[in-house]
Amino acid sequence: MDIHDLAERVSAGERRALARAITLVESGRADHRVLAAELLAALPQDRQALRVGLSGTPGVGKSTFIESFGMMLIRQGLRVAVLAVDPSSSRSGGSILGDKTRMDLLSRETAAFIRPSPSQTHLGGVARRTREAVRLCEAAGFDVVLIETVGVGQSETVVAEMSDLFLLLLAPAGGDELQGVKRGIMEMADIILVNKADGDLKPTATRTCADYAGALRLMRKRPQDPEGYPCAMTVSALEENGLETAWETMQTLTEWRRANGFWEQTRADQARYWFLEDVKQRLLAQLQEPAAKAALEALSAEVAAGEADPSVAAQSFVAKLGR
Ligand code: GDP
Repeated sequence: MDIHDLAERVSAGERRALARAITLVESGRADHRVLAAELLAALPQDRQALRVGLSGTPGVGKSTFIESFGMMLIRQGLRVAVLAVDPSSSRSGGSILGDKTRMDLLSRETAAFIRPSPSQTHLGGVARRTREAVRLCEAAGFDVVLIETVGVGQSETVVAEMSDLFLLLLAPAGGDELQGVKRGIMEMADIILVNKADGDLKPTATRTCADYAGALRLMRKRPQDPEGYPCAMTVSALEENGLETAWETMQTLTEWRRANGFWEQTRADQARYWFLEDVKQRLLAQLQEPAAKAALEALSAEVAAGEADPSVAAQSFVAKLGR
């Protein structure tokens, strides 16, 4: 495989080359990892897309929203990539973006690129591969990279840590259900979008939106937020209402963060976070090596038998690791 040729074609925005490049970074094979590193180094480093994380429980309208929102961005002359982080895909055998018909119109646009979640049990592995896929999409000249996830466990954190903006998509709900959204997820959101604000659901959506706006105002102010953010608004992905306003709200926030140093600050913090995560992953992988596993078992038997002190044993084990 000619990596420099592939890098050139990715930089020229060729979608097939981009798809191939993502397949390469998704591979766990040692020789592919070497090529992937070469590829990432050979790409232009100065292109930046707006990375937008999007989370919501199944059925809330994520794919409908991405389709309508993506098409609107394309009409404005922008190029849009859609990636997914789906921790459940390895279990279910499918993935949230596996079914291309979910974004039928968007998938037929040349200005769009849609990629399902890589399937792997490890969220850490999915995270690294998605991060590299984001970099590839940026190098390929995409203006907006949407990173979709389902509201399951840790996946929001993973997506928020690789996004410039985090959107939380919610459905209209009765007042009591407001409690159902975990506080941690609310705290990650820059913009809450209450979807399905159409037809009979419109009054409920408006009320739900006001409830969330109220809840957001009660939360601790973050330094990276200008006045009025984080905010809540209603949209209808189906009737394509409120999407332009949502985009303007996202742009206003982005411009403010850029002007006030928070954009760069966030990306620097994220780079640091991923570096440490990667170190942790590698250390954990070392524990799986046969020699380390055997040493670990022997020491834990000694500890269990009272022949060794837990921390002394741990210290001697860690000191020997990787030698
Ligand atoms: P996802 O599982 O979050 O990707 O949700 P989908 O996009 O597949 O949507 C789930 C269901 O909600 C589908 O039947 C959609 O037609 C419907 N839906 C999505 N957006 C809207 C909307 O804005 N208004 C209404 N009324 N229904 C919607």
